[in-house]
Amino acid sequence: DRSVLSVDDLSVEYRTDDGAVKAVREVSLHIEPGETLGIAGESGSGKSTLALAILRYLEGNGRITGGTIEYDGRSVLDLSSRELKELRGNEIAHVPQDPNTSLNPSMTVGDQIAEVVRTHRDVSRSEAMEQTYEVLHEVNLPDPETNASQYPHELSGGQQQRVLLAIALACQPQLLILDEPTTGLDVTTQAKILDLIDDLIEERDTSVLLITHNLGVINQISDRVGIMYAGEIMEVGATDEVFRSPTNPYTQGLLASLPQGEGRRLKPIPGQIGDLRTIPDGCVFADRCEFATDECREGSIEKVSVDGNPSHLTRCRRWEHAVANPIQADTQ
Ligand code: ATP
Ligand code: MG
Repeated sequence: DRSVLSVDDLSVEYRTDDGAVKAVREVSLHIEPGETLGIAGESGSGKSTLALAILRYLEGNGRITGGTIEYDGRSVLDLSSRELKELRGNEIAHVPQDPNTSLNPSMTVGDQIAEVVRTHRDVSRSEAMEQTYEVLHEVNLPDPETNASQYPHELSGGQQQRVLLAIALACQPQLLILDEPTTGLDVTTQAKILDLIDDLIEERDTSVLLITHNLGVINQISDRVGIMYAGEIMEVGATDEVFRSPTNPYTQGLLASLPQGEGRRLKPIPGQIGDLRTIPDGCVFADRCEFATDECREGSIEKVSVDGNPSHLTRCRRWEHAVANPIQADTQ
């Protein structure tokens, strides 16, 4: 079937005084109707940049230097500013990483949501307020009418996160992009927000691009997962498959660095993401990879399908060695 979103070979750079930061390089992904794709990877791997680029929300010094983005068969990079505005509110909703920058502190929650509703739907003020109460109810805020009259600072962090979701849902998007939707919340609140997202996805058949460094979150609600490192997607496939049998040394390392429960010690990946202004030949992960040999430091590394499965891809020349001898958390 036809993808809601297809990104092909997308590259993004940020211009700085010290040269161009190549934050996203030749990333390809697709999302089918009703599907949730998770993107995971450590801090600085380009997850937010990818999300911002899809909606052309990049900061002033950011620039798309290659590739294509198709939403529902239309090229996002060729849209006029009017068409882009329509797309951003009506069809793709984006909940950015920092809730503080996305809520207006001097406007009530209800007015903010109603404004979004009225920007995209031809409805009266009172109809917009009715729809506002409905979405506040949908995101399980305790008392929609009271909450609508409150200012953001009168709400808790978890409630603010729900308001952001309510704003995103107010226009019934076909695609929802969530950037770290639970970061900074306590574990219980995190779990509630995740359940809520899960329910909303089920009920509405919305497609979701879910960005997080938290693999547990991905495991809970994503059908497929893409593992990102230093601007590239290192492995992509069905979530259960990638988590059960990770083939890329970076994926293995990420999984081994999670708290593992009884008798196992977490094992962080040594080193850090290198300088994104000068990308070395070969594999971007080679310097941190215990499987790397000279062949890994030459040319460009192609994605290969794992065991002939066309939907499980890994960007590694030595994945078979990694599978035969996987990186695992140490037993104590
Ligand atoms: P996190 O998990 O911390 O949110 P991320 O995966 O979302 O990280 P990005 O925010 O996309 O990562 O950043 C990718 C790279 O681009 C980083 O090296 C970052 O420092 C750099 N970067 C981001 N925004 C800019 C900017 N406006 N100018 C220059 N460099 C930037
Ligand atoms: Mg980010």
